[in-house]
Amino acid sequence: MNFPYSDDNKRYHTLNYHLRHTFGTKVVRIPLDAGFTCPNIDGKCGVGGCIYCSDRGSGDFSESPLLPLEKQYFLMREKMNKKWESTKFIPYLQAHTNTYAPIEKLKKIYNTCLAFPDVCGFSVATRADCITEEIADFMAEISGKTYFTVELGLQTVHDRTAEIINRCHTYSDFLKGYGLLRERNINTGIHIINGLPGEDRQMMLETMQEVAHLEPHSVKIHLLYILDYAPIKELYDNGKVKELSREEYVDITVSQLEILPSKTIVGRLTGDAPKEHLVSPLWSLKKFCVLNEIDKEFVRRNTFQGIYADKQY
Ligand code: SF4
Repeated sequence: MNFPYSDDNKRYHTLNYHLRHTFGTKVVRIPLDAGFTCPNIDGKCGVGGCIYCSDRGSGDFSESPLLPLEKQYFLMREKMNKKWESTKFIPYLQAHTNTYAPIEKLKKIYNTCLAFPDVCGFSVATRADCITEEIADFMAEISGKTYFTVELGLQTVHDRTAEIINRCHTYSDFLKGYGLLRERNINTGIHIINGLPGEDRQMMLETMQEVAHLEPHSVKIHLLYILDYAPIKELYDNGKVKELSREEYVDITVSQLEILPSKTIVGRLTGDAPKEHLVSPLWSLKKFCVLNEIDKEFVRRNTFQGIYADKQY
């Protein structure tokens, strides 16, 4: 089996592979927290946020937003350099919704990040309902100057699930924001979550089938975590959320990757939950075991990412 986008045992197109082949060296992304909030937290379209969200708005591993961005960048870079020797970095605005502010504020923050030393690109995570024409035009300008990626949380294409998780946008809202970026040729990634309340295997595969048709630049697949302080804990305690077993997660994730075109970069296949607050699934703490099981399942099936991309599952 020769998977075209791998030079090790991976049968999917990892972000590490993509960045190494794009820049000729190991590239490290530096997560940053610019202190934004979300429209489904502050009351614009809802309150409380997504029911599974961590209190750092998915930016659990960034430095405090109270620190200036430059200080965060240097502190994180020092930490990352203990793990990987690297000379190139991509600042990544990860926490909360990083386009949810007036354009002048965005310009100031983004230009600050772009001016950090040794950066070879820039990444921004946000919600599709917080992309306007004006913001997309500004992002297109950045794209013309550097390696720029935008990551959009979709989580599911099923509107009923989106309601249950208090996402406060529909799939059709998502498509509008996604379209604004794609029509400007901006590298756009999509995040999805496996194991959301009320979803079965088929629904998760349907989400990936839709994502595959959208041909994003990258995809991140997350596992639903139950955190002790998140609103989802109450649903979990009442038996309304059934966590996936590791075997189920591996089966669904491999099946999703088989229908995702091989050229699509896979940014992540599990998340990193804050350990001290994780209630379930505890097997997810052994992240390397999960990734190993995914590798083994591809071998067992003798398949790879994209093998069924042009077919229906
Ligand atoms: S949009 Fe993201 S950061 Fe905001 S509440 Fe939902 S999961 Fe949390």
